[in-house]
Amino acid sequence: MDMDNSINIALVAHDNKKKDLVEWFKWNREALKGKVIVCTGTTGKIIEKEFSGDEEFYRVIKLKSGPLGGDQQLGAMISEGKIDVLIFFWDPMQPQPHDVDVKALLRISVLYNVPTACNRSTADYIISSPLLKENYVPQKSEFHDYTEREI
Ligand code: PGA
Repeated sequence: MDMDNSINIALVAHDNKKKDLVEWFKWNREALKGKVIVCTGTTGKIIEKEFSGDEEFYRVIKLKSGPLGGDQQLGAMISEGKIDVLIFFWDPMQPQPHDVDVKALLRISVLYNVPTACNRSTADYIISSPLLKENYVPQKSEFHDYTEREI
């Protein structure tokens, strides 16, 4: 996976929230220009379909579909420092078969201090933040006490 110094934005939406995400994407098209968009499979497919012709503005990287391991792939990328922002429109009204993966992804984003939005208004705040243009580097999480603990 070729990921340079650009800002990598992860996008994930559960099925009932995909329409929301497409609207959000449309609304924030300008702000998303030049960004690498990393999506779970179906979310990525929809973004590519809805915004075909825009390929020169942003690169879309598709992982596996969420329930098939895509959430876990994203979690791994976060642990490797490859994701700058997580936009995750999860569905608060419907149980998901991969609920444990959803929880794991949210946990890892908190653990690694990745700016995370779970609804449109928060996503709007993050994507319009001046910090995104300032090469802001969030404080790195420190795990020394844990990794060096006596066993
Ligand atoms: P999808 O996955 O983009 O493949 O639908 C989303 C999710 O449920 O994590």
